[in-house]
Amino acid sequence: INNELQRSEKLEIISELAASVAHEVRNPLQVTRGFLQLLTERYEQEQAQMYLIMALDELDCASNIITDFLTFAKPDFDQITELNIYDELTHIESILIPLANLSDGVVSMDIPHDLSIMGNSSKFKQALINLIKNSIEAWNGRGIIRIWAYKNNSIVTVHIEDNGVGMDQEELTRLGAPYFSNKTKGTGLGLMVSFRIIEAMQGEIQYKSQKGAGTEAIITFPSSK
Ligand code: ADP
Ligand code: MG
Repeated sequence: INNELQRSEKLEIISELAASVAHEVRNPLQVTRGFLQLLTERYEQEQAQMYLIMALDELDCASNIITDFLTFAKPDFDQITELNIYDELTHIESILIPLANLSDGVVSMDIPHDLSIMGNSSKFKQALINLIKNSIEAWNGRGIIRIWAYKNNSIVTVHIEDNGVGMDQEELTRLGAPYFSNKTKGTGLGLMVSFRIIEAMQGEIQYKSQKGAGTEAIITFPSSK
């Protein structure tokens, strides 16, 4: 028990530290981004434009990593409201459609209008966007993602199924571990953050996958009505 206590105390200190460092670092990044953005509008020269755009990309990348750490360190939400699953997922879909189109795939949704859970809207979106983005990035060739949801015994279940590259048992057990990524441009932080958000919303997540066939994420939350 003593050990457990020490561990949780340490975790809390680390979380506090990570959150404050993340905050402090993100501000100057955003200011720098603003100045670079201004320069892209002033410089006509093609070469200069290219370097500026690359610098902006790298800054965005650093910013995203920091946002992930911030969410991981402090997943507790300031604003908890009743979230309508249909509304939330429709919003998420509209954000992800350009990405899906770029990857030559389709997303289909089948969600009743009357499902709701308690949580923070932006954190919920962040968690699900990470999952669906992974499905899009797993596509090879023409991709299909099916998303459906229902309520059963006061539990709301959301399924996200793709026909992408899939995972073997070893990859499945490593899901959600920090820095586990098979992508050249991946951070391996997305699922770590999503799992943490889902947990903070009293939810659970489970994965089924088969190499070469596809992947299914099954997420459950307590229903709010
Ligand atoms: P990242 O996307 O930056 O690699 P994630 O934490 O989001 O980090 O995902 C970790 C790894 O899990 C991915 O690199 C990928 O190998 C695997 N993965 C996650 N979701 C899927 C999926 N739907 N299909 C296939 N592999 C997946
Ligand atoms: Mg990801």
